[in-house]
Amino acid sequence: MTLHYDGEVKIAKINMGPYDNNGYIVICPDTNEGIIIDTPAEPEKLINEVGDVQIKAILITHKHQDHLLGFAEITGAIGAPVAVHANDVDGLPRAPETVLNDGDTILSATCKPRPFTPPAILREPLATCPEALQQILNSVSGKLLTLPDEVAVYAGHGAVDTTIGEARRRYQVFTSKSHSPDLCGDIDWLETE
Ligand SMILES: [Zn+2]
Repeated sequence: MTLHYDGEVKIAKINMGPYDNNGYIVICPDTNEGIIIDTPAEPEKLINEVGDVQIKAILITHKHQDHLLGFAEITGAIGAPVAVHANDVDGLPRAPETVLNDGDTILSATCKPRPFTPPAILREPLATCPEALQQILNSVSGKLLTLPDEVAVYAGHGAVDTTIGEARRRYQVFTSKSHSPDLCGDIDWLETE
């Protein structure tokens, strides 16, 4: 397994499918237990990385279909319970074993439990209507940017990682400008007027 991060947890980041999605395997180094995050297309790329890691849960960040194109294959190959936020249960191919709510902690108690903010708040700012964009902005400012600057942020798409501190800096550029109430679509915090 090629590790993307090797510290208090190990993280494998796997680029998958035609939409530049990322699947992740997060592993507790003490116990070799882990979780899978998301099930995009090209599921074999993720399945092949699991090796001897004891997968305790398959976490779906949200119900957009690009994160679910490999759902059947991955959940079929890896016998672990599926977990998703309550708002996204209806978009899954089948009912999950675990329904998450804001503030829930995932991963086993053998690894330091960490507060988990369900990624239902993290719907991609693509092709969304103005109300959905407002929901995203509320989530970004009210949930993500309340975290400490040094918290690492791993994206559902693309190669670039960031931190809360860097995200905060970019978001402040966006909020320092006034925007049309109809603003919608693909938002770039630095470039969008
Ligand atoms: Zn997506």
